Amino acid sequence: MRALITGANRGLGLEFVRQLAARGDRVFATCRNPAAANALNDLQAQYGDLLSITALDVADPESITLSLAEISSQTDTLDLLINNAAIALDEDGLGSFELETMRTILTVNAITPMLVIQEYLELIKAGDRPKIVNISSGAGSLASRNSLRSYSYSASKSALNMYTRNLSFALKDDGVIAIVLGPGWVKTDMGGPNAHITPEVSIGGMLPVIDGLTLDDSGGFFNYTGDIVPW
Ligand code: NDP
Repeated sequence: MRALITGANRGLGLEFVRQLAARGDRVFATCRNPAAANALNDLQAQYGDLLSITALDVADPESITLSLAEISSQTDTLDLLINNAAIALDEDGLGSFELETMRTILTVNAITPMLVIQEYLELIKAGDRPKIVNISSGAGSLASRNSLRSYSYSASKSALNMYTRNLSFALKDDGVIAIVLGPGWVKTDMGGPNAHITPEVSIGGMLPVIDGLTLDDSGGFFNYTGDIVPW
């Protein structure tokens, strides 16, 4: 399988790369600054041609285009695109809302995955049972929300869910599966030390879920155990 991952230099993105390469998949790891991505470079040294690293700042449309040019020179097809990169900026909430903070969170987490998909669509359509996996969050579930939490981060994941659901209808006739997947509460820089599970467990759960997807699952919202998450 040929897989591209965004935000692959740390956290869940890095663990996706580690587990995909360990099982022999061809991995196109992308991150903002490859020269500083030490853990990723160590993996590249270990796996050689199985793993390449490309600069991709998802918030910069030109960077998306440049990354496509580099990756297209290495492959004609992608079987899996994982939109993993995201941010969780501090936000004080009502009374202290700031346009720039809100816009940045919504842009990076909800909008840029669509731009990455759009740019890479021809490679994805050429893939073998191709899948687009947008990493969402239980925070994006309206049905589960029963107390105040992170306005813009939550809204960004709800928006990502809707974008993905629409996308699933647009791509079904092309045989492309598109889902949103919640990784659980995971011990990363974003999840913090009190999170419930390690990246190893989260990715170890998500990969079999991704492997088992069919077109009937397209447009769905799942978590790392494969359970359906309420919208
Ligand atoms: P981290 O904060 O540990 O890592 C975030 C990654 O996203 C980093 O690699 C970061 O790169 C990258 N990133 C941020 N902005 C950009 C950008 N503009 N272009 C490219 N890459 C960027 O987060 P996690 O690994 O925990 O999160 C991964 C995914 O899982 C996210 O979508 C997150 O919302 C989701 N998630 C995580 C949960 C958790 O408990 N950890 C729970 C629910 C969902 P850089 O190092 O350059 O900043």
